Parts: sequence; structure tokens; C-alpha cells
Amino acid sequence: MLQRIRASVQTKAWQKSLAEAVRQPRELLAQLALSDDPISLLTDHQPDFPLRVPQSYIRRMAVGEPNDPLLRQVLSTAAERAHVEGFGTSPVGDDAATLQSGLLQKYQGRVLVLATAACPIHCRYCFRRHFPYGDHNGQHRDWHPVLNAIAADTTLSEVILSGGDPLSLADEYLAELVEGLGKIAHLKRLRIHSRFPVVLPERIDRSLLGWIGKTRLNTTVVIHCNHGNEINGEVRDGLAQLKSRNVTLLNQTVLLKGVNDSAETLTELSEILFEAGVLPYYLHLLDRVSGAAHFDTSEQSALLLMESLRRRLPGYLVPRLVKEIAGEPYKRPLT
Ligand SMILES: *Cc1c(COP(=O)(O)O)cnc(C)c1O
Ligand code: SF4
Repeated sequence: MLQRIRASVQTKAWQKSLAEAVRQPRELLAQLALSDDPISLLTDHQPDFPLRVPQSYIRRMAVGEPNDPLLRQVLSTAAERAHVEGFGTSPVGDDAATLQSGLLQKYQGRVLVLATAACPIHCRYCFRRHFPYGDHNGQHRDWHPVLNAIAADTTLSEVILSGGDPLSLADEYLAELVEGLGKIAHLKRLRIHSRFPVVLPERIDRSLLGWIGKTRLNTTVVIHCNHGNEINGEVRDGLAQLKSRNVTLLNQTVLLKGVNDSAETLTELSEILFEAGVLPYYLHLLDRVSGAAHFDTSEQSALLLMESLRRRLPGYLVPRLVKEIAGEPYKRPLT
């Protein structure tokens, strides 16, 4: 069965774009007409979490601007080498929440499938940057153990596809998984956490829309957008396609110093998202992962930002500021 599917998988446009993603810091800087100096670039490559950024995302960066908010999210700098107290390799308790290979549960009724370790982009602040993905999956997996475990637990009503980025998988594999989930009677909702709709909108092609439009499960795609500059016409078109298949669109943002930690930036982000049919969901305080301390903002300044957002925006465009604390039964809202 798997053999047959594998044989039928063809290289799609988005897969070609991913294969052509920039992996060399110097190449990225050259494209943006920047020298190494202004950002104290790490000259040695980080083999465990190297640069990875598709051209489509680079095209949204400003040329000649070392502090471009999109560039800062992907370019490793010397600051990553700093060892900072309180920043570790497993900040959100994933090890303790692992049910079995590829399956995490922290919250009642919702289970998270780590569908793949691959991502279309490597975000320097990512809390999974040290995650031992090797323990969880091969490239293309057999879904039976995951489906059987979900089928056996009737307390579950929602399945979240995560990773890595679940949309890194070929549609053939995703269709197979989602079809299997649809057959589990106690499931009501499917959620997909993905940065693809923002980073590489061509991912939302006919083949993806096929399986996503077909499932009986009430489907939400939670995109991950941190700055209004990430949304362009192509992104809006892709999101509109998802909407046309009755997919609910939400966004999560990570609060990042030097990228989006201002009331103006976050207000604009909410407004741009809403114009694109997306409601803000979570604003995450940075997970304290080593190598990302330079993106950290204080809880105090985050609360002040929220106060400012509430004054500027209608309630439905104000994201919920949350902090994930290992072992707690939900992401803790900060007010
Ligand atoms: C964040 C997360 C969820 C989703 O939480 P919601 O509050 O439902 O958005 C579910 N499972 C795990 C393991 C998570 O980390
Ligand atoms: S899991 Fe999400 S935040 Fe982390 S590197 Fe992948 S796309 Fe970026």
C-alpha cells in the first residue's frame, strides 16, 4: 500500500520551491545586499538547526535592512551562542507528555500528532529546535499506531496535526491520515498548525484543497504569522482558498523582541490578518529555549503591550497572551 502511494507521489511546485530554499547565510545576505558585519553573523553553520528560508519569504524582506523583521526571524546571529540561565532544551515538557511515538497529549480532549519533523522555514526562536524528532518519526510513516491509539480513546474530540510542520508531508500521506481520522466516530474537529500558508502559500494547491475540503471533521487551520509584512497577495489568495473550503482560520504569533514587540506592529498585524479572513488566537510569550534568549521580552512589557492593544482594537482582534507552563492543564492566560 505504502509502496503504491510512494510511487504515485510526484514533485509538486511547492516541493520544488522548498528544495530551492536558501540554506547559506551568505547567500541570503548577498540577496539582500547586506554585509556580514551589521548583524554579527555566525560564520560557522549550525548543523543541528541550519538556515532554511524559501525565496517566496525572502521576497518579502526589505533589501539593505539588517533589522528587517522577517530576516531577524531566520538569520542566526552570534547571540544564539549565549548561555542564558533559565533557557533549556525542552522548555515545554514535551517529553513528559509523549503518549507514544508521534503522539503528545497535554490537554483534555485534544491530542497532538507530530506528523513530521520537517519545516518549510527554520525560525530561530522555535521551541522545537532541540526536539529529538529522530525518536518520533521516519520521513513517511505508517499511521496505524497513531490512528489506533486515537480510536481507542473516546475522550478525544479533536486532533491537532503539528510537527515540525505537518504540511511538509505530501498530500497523499496527509489525505490518508485525515481519511483515517474521519472514520473515528468520536472525533469532531481537526486542527492543523502550519506556517506554510504564510511562508510558502503555493502549498495551498488543488491537491491540498482536495483532502481538506472532503473531511467531515470541522477543520481549523492555525497559521503562524508574526508580522504584517509576512502577508502579501499570494498569502491572501491561499487563505481565501482555504476559507472557500469552510476552513476556520486562526493565527498564532510569538512575541519577539526586535520583531513585533510594539503596539503599532501588533495592531497592524491583527488588522491585516482580519482583512485576510484570519482571527488572532494566541500571542505566545517566548518559550525559554536555549539559543533564543535574545528574542525574550519581559512578562511586564508583554502585559503593557496587551493593555495598549485592548485600547486600540475591537475585542475580537486582540490575541490572548499565553504562556505555556509544563504540566499545567491549559496554556496559561496572562492578564
Ligand atoms: C498548544 C497545544 C495544544 C492546543 O491547545 P489549545 O489551547 O487547544 O489551542 C494541544 N496540545 C498540545 C500538546 C499543545 O502544546
Ligand atoms: S515548528 Fe514552526 S516555529 Fe518551529 S521552525 Fe518549524 S515552522 Fe518555525
